[in-house]
Amino acid sequence: MQPTPAEAFDAWFQILGFRGRHALTGLQPILRQQLQNLQKSFNEAFAAERQFPEHAPTLPMYLDYIDADDENAIATTDGQSYAFVGITLPLVFKISDVSVVLSKAPSITTALQLNVSAEPYNDLQGTLFYILVSFVVGHEWSHHKHGHLQQLSAPKAIFQEITNSGIAGSIETQLQEIGADGYSAFFLLSHILDHRDTFLPWLNLDPASPPVFFDRVFLSLFVIAFASFLLLRPPELLGADKVYRFTHPPAAARMNFFLRETAGWCSFNRPPLEGWLVSNSLGLINLTAEAILGAGGAQRWRQQIDFLKSDDGIKYTATLTTGLARYRKSWGRQRRPG
Ligand SMILES: [Zn+2]
Repeated sequence: MQPTPAEAFDAWFQILGFRGRHALTGLQPILRQQLQNLQKSFNEAFAAERQFPEHAPTLPMYLDYIDADDENAIATTDGQSYAFVGITLPLVFKISDVSVVLSKAPSITTALQLNVSAEPYNDLQGTLFYILVSFVVGHEWSHHKHGHLQQLSAPKAIFQEITNSGIAGSIETQLQEIGADGYSAFFLLSHILDHRDTFLPWLNLDPASPPVFFDRVFLSLFVIAFASFLLLRPPELLGADKVYRFTHPPAAARMNFFLRETAGWCSFNRPPLEGWLVSNSLGLINLTAEAILGAGGAQRWRQQIDFLKSDDGIKYTATLTTGLARYRKSWGRQRRPG
């Protein structure tokens, strides 16, 4: 008999060395309900997703929570029944905590011109939490749809998305991460900017404000959420020798490629936003780094930016840019008709 998705998820994640599926028992009922609703909405979206010819064929997609001690999000498949996206509970809590910090930072609420309530889990926190989790899920989904799992050397290999995984990678793994970031960003931007009416009641925004105000608020939230996702991985100290061997590009480099992708989306879908993004993104990112990392951590973030401006950094970015053009051309080619 075919296992249910939850049973298959539980069995496979035990094989991968985790405690299995987290059934959300022991959580406060309201939190459990929220996480179940979130899971349901992602699984419904997977079931209803449009098929694109360039997508790698996958088994039916299923998302659930992993019982584990570390923060991580994982794209994997048992190869028989399902393609999985798993998120560990510690990552869910970490994202929630980071969203609390951001929603209470006066520098952020002032920049966004938002009046948030004094409750511990306020409306801004809820919105940032949703955007961040959606980005993470979209990133893992993209690893499936871009066929990255077929390129793994071992079917049980796991990418560490959050904890630093050292120098076990290459330019090829870094390009896959940039590819997954860009693809997730593209879909999520369309979702939150085109369907923002769903969020308006949460944020107590005046519905009579001009559309450009809403566009800027939601684009800012998007940039802040992505910057905080990157900063969940502590920024590494960079050097020309090891920057090519990380599994993921360093945060500052990833941010640059993400901003290029976002600017591209704006120029096509909301042309007036592109110039606004170029003028305002760095300020938003710095505010996010300071709010999350404190002054010491923000220093490390600035060191990364300095490295990228050096000769070695410019060479590294050029390698990624050329690689990305190659990646884009080859992605899905074997699956595209003609
Ligand atoms: Zn990844």
